[in-house]
Amino acid sequence: MARPLRADIDLDALRHNYCLARDQAPESRAVAVLKADAYGHGLVACARALEDLAPAFAVACLEEAETLREGGIAAPIMLLEGIFEAAELERVEALGLWMAVHSDWQLEALLTYRPARPVPVWIKVDSGMHRLGFAPERAEAVWHRLAAAPAQACDLHLMSHFATADAEDDAYFARQTARMKALAERLGAPLCLANSPATLARPESHGAWNRPGVMLYGSDPLEAANPVSRRLAPVMTLRSEVIAVRELAVGEPVGYGGRWTAARPSRIGVVACGYGDGYDRHAADGTPVLVEGRRACLAGKVSMDMLTVDLTDLPDADIGSEVVLWGRAANGEALSVDEVARHCDTISYTLLTGVLPRVPRRYH
Ligand code: PLP
Repeated sequence: MARPLRADIDLDALRHNYCLARDQAPESRAVAVLKADAYGHGLVACARALEDLAPAFAVACLEEAETLREGGIAAPIMLLEGIFEAAELERVEALGLWMAVHSDWQLEALLTYRPARPVPVWIKVDSGMHRLGFAPERAEAVWHRLAAAPAQACDLHLMSHFATADAEDDAYFARQTARMKALAERLGAPLCLANSPATLARPESHGAWNRPGVMLYGSDPLEAANPVSRRLAPVMTLRSEVIAVRELAVGEPVGYGGRWTAARPSRIGVVACGYGDGYDRHAADGTPVLVEGRRACLAGKVSMDMLTVDLTDLPDADIGSEVVLWGRAANGEALSVDEVARHCDTISYTLLTGVLPRVPRRYH
């Protein structure tokens, strides 16, 4: 029998989550963010599943856009970070991409390029993230330069990214939104601001376009869940099995360093999934898993190809029992990737994008 680990990808759940994002902002169009291999779920498969729903897709780089086009995706594709060197402009044009412009060298490269057709441009403004983008004071001049170059640039939009849309305190978020709205009003520009938390909980930030990402994959991006975010469905189920069972006496340790020690006579299940598959090595003792749909806890450090769980309270669990690391068990029980992430002192994004290629994806 093959190693039992796999990632089941529920494309109906992806579509359901997209519709939740779309319906939260009926006046906006939702670009589905598919970067990083659709947050680890498979770029082309996810794009195909959303093709009839989403008016456009967003990726981080030209290579991802090429993968989509090679996979037969004809929808508009936005390059969230634009180009990384001027030579990429030819491919941007050939593939018919939408391009973010966030810096002077990108602007000059585009303005000196001679495309057969102008490139749709999204001017990226740094409204407070302090990562990529033109300062708001400069954005106006950039807009006017591009507007004066219709052979190079068309369909101008403004975009910006929020630093704190998921936080309960909305003061910084409000400043970013206000800056962008004032700029858009002065220029009469269409806006694209909202990521997942803003799509879900900050309607004041919704523009002509929104850019939800992680919520499409069923992760709740809000610090305090709301009635809509609670309806998100997990898309990825990371599923394996118990491949061995150990009986331990009180005081016996498990795994590297003996971090976990049996405080009572214990049954330990060995599960075929480890950090060599992308499961986070920082997972603490007590990190939940579902064994045949019932909760059990990680016991001991995660190894490269295995992890160990305490089965003492599940006496019928044995070799071959289903173990869900996150997602939905065969009996319908769900374990959110967000909950697992909290036990790993990380966020769902790193767990989802971290599932390595040796884990087969199975789509249904
Ligand atoms: N827009 C940009 C520029 C991003 O970098 C990201 C994600 O990092 C998104 C949108 C989507 O964000 P989220 O996954 O939080 O919805």
